[in-house]
Amino acid sequence: MLLVAEPILGEEEKAALAAVIDDGWITMGDRVRAFEQAFAEAHGARDAVAVGSCTAGLHLVLLALGLGPGDEVLVPSMTFVATANSVLYTGATPVFVDIEGVDLPLISPSDAAAKCTERTKAVILVHYAGYLPDREAWRDFAQSRGLLLIEDAAHAAGLPQAGRIGDAAVFSFYGNKNMTTAEGGMVFAEDDAVLDTVRQLRAHGMTSGARQRLTGHASGYDVTMLGFNHRMDELRAAIGLVQLARLPAWNATRRDLAAHYRRRLAQDCPDVVMPFADPRPSAHHILPVLLPAGIDRQRLADDLRGDGVQTSVHYAPVHSFTFYRERFPGVNLPRTEEFARRTLSLPLHPKMGTDDVESVTRALARALAHQREDVPQ
Ligand SMILES: *Cc1c(COP(=O)(O)O)cnc(C)c1O
Repeated sequence: MLLVAEPILGEEEKAALAAVIDDGWITMGDRVRAFEQAFAEAHGARDAVAVGSCTAGLHLVLLALGLGPGDEVLVPSMTFVATANSVLYTGATPVFVDIEGVDLPLISPSDAAAKCTERTKAVILVHYAGYLPDREAWRDFAQSRGLLLIEDAAHAAGLPQAGRIGDAAVFSFYGNKNMTTAEGGMVFAEDDAVLDTVRQLRAHGMTSGARQRLTGHASGYDVTMLGFNHRMDELRAAIGLVQLARLPAWNATRRDLAAHYRRRLAQDCPDVVMPFADPRPSAHHILPVLLPAGIDRQRLADDLRGDGVQTSVHYAPVHSFTFYRERFPGVNLPRTEEFARRTLSLPLHPKMGTDDVESVTRALARALAHQREDVPQ
């Protein structure tokens, strides 16, 4: 079965884990610090703070930037639910914004402008599928309105321009992302004071860490804020250092596979739209396509599974989930809803080759033809 996403893990990761166990220090220490510095450097950032997940990182960043009850935060609904959840954790209110179009499923600046009120304090950009939103346009948008700009860069690890658009950014190292530490996340912030606050919030609000106390750099600690336990550990950081070194090659493979998909889809499935036709920087995290209107997506997915091709849907819109519908009734985002009805994510990961891409587009063409001709399966 060709999977939608698959991590690459091997001997180097095993050796890195074994080295941590041999060292005997498994909680946050020197490897976490080295991973932070290496990840920052790979993206041209000055520094970074590693956390337990992207979700935790988003929560801490929003707190460190001062968001809370009474504030509104503009978010896309075409994202993973964690983007909006992180806003609710702080007591602030997520305000859902439509996408630009079904062929450009990134948060729409014009709809975002229409949804600004006196309470709007921030915008969270999501680099959906790995594609970077327009940096200058969003900086102007935020600056002219006095808003904070935050990147949910979960889809964009290894993209050098990612994480440098706004006031803060958070990456994910969950198992299906471009690089993984099983669970994990990384935070960037423009203002060092914000990053320092995130560092303190990640470890119970303490003014120094266990490692610093052990190495004699600090003898005691104070608690000066309500913190959390959102630390990364040495085992994850060790895997992260290995994965980070391999990430540029993997992302180059993803880029080549995505380009091959675009050529083959045009040839084999001309009525299937691959969004993001205009070139823009991308980490090519997932490969969503837009099916022709009227196609029974579930039947198509079942048909493809029978041909050894797993598919997925990224995403059911956040505003459509029961929890969100009950709290924010009446949200109406026509372009997001149409995209969500028609989108299907095809396999994309660096274990694949161009022959796999061709198997997928041929299987998709067959499955579409079955439905058109209504041939019994
Ligand atoms: C995966 C993902 C997250 C959550 O990341 P975790 O590290 O699992 O917390 C948040 N936002 C987006 C867009 C994601 O894809």
